[in-house]
Amino acid sequence: MAHTRLRVVSSVSAVRAAVAAWRAAGENVAFAPTMGNLHAGHMSLATLCAQSARRVVMSIFVNPTQFGPSEDFAAYPRTLAADEALIAAQANVDLLFIPESPEVYPFGLEHAVRVQLPPLSRELCGASRPGHFDGVATVVCRLLHIVTPDILFLGQKDYQQFVLMQRMSQDLRMPVELRMGPTQREPDGVAMSSRNRYLSPVERAQAPALYRVLSRVREELLAGARDFARLTADARAELEREGFRPEYVEVRRQGDLSAADPQRAEPRVVLGAARLGRARLIDNVLV
Ligand code: AMP
Repeated sequence: MAHTRLRVVSSVSAVRAAVAAWRAAGENVAFAPTMGNLHAGHMSLATLCAQSARRVVMSIFVNPTQFGPSEDFAAYPRTLAADEALIAAQANVDLLFIPESPEVYPFGLEHAVRVQLPPLSRELCGASRPGHFDGVATVVCRLLHIVTPDILFLGQKDYQQFVLMQRMSQDLRMPVELRMGPTQREPDGVAMSSRNRYLSPVERAQAPALYRVLSRVREELLAGARDFARLTADARAELEREGFRPEYVEVRRQGDLSAADPQRAEPRVVLGAARLGRARLIDNVLV
């Protein structure tokens, strides 16, 4: 697919001008927002965007409103030069938007209009990260208004985030289609994540256990196991034996993450979150 050279912009007006020119030419737009420190998971979303639309926009913005006061906002890895080089080399992104905070939050964080999500945002990962998903929704809503893409690509690794952003876009009647890109993994199964770099070498060697344990639950479900409470309790115990401090392992319904019904044959997802050293790892598998 022929693509123009990558343009890197930092202002809302520059994004709007580029997108307006494409629209005038009848071209559609796919968008993948990120917080940078790009890896093959992010780049797979760029590839999916390029396969789905004529024009591709990516953004890099470490969004302050989705970090809790004791979380890693200051320490979050910022590797802009390497990120830009990676995107330029892959050559399927047309526009890279790298705003400073006032461009996204013109009235400052204290006075920002915020999105408040429904109660699902306080379950699963939301239980240990109060306000996190509202912060994600607040920035995704802003980015969608700035970029106005036809298609928004998000990663399966953050399954709950996808479900909540889908809910937001539908509930707020946003004219955008959400699509999910599959989780990209390291050769040993660990889901790629910018936060994996917080792991010590010993912890990194323990990390594959999360995917292994979730996959075991999946196998048991496929084999007919229906006692979800026992399955997930066993999974948490195994994670503890592997050196993790598990936060949750749950079996939920795909699509809306409502409680799974053992009596019904329905698409399910097994989700888990666990701390390992100073990292917090999440993963999920579809059943
Ligand atoms: P982040 O930079 O961590 O906010 O992630 C930006 C986007 O990349 C989100 O839609 C994530 O779900 C997605 N993403 C992160 N890690 C992966 C991965 N390992 N595979 C696929 N998508 C991913």
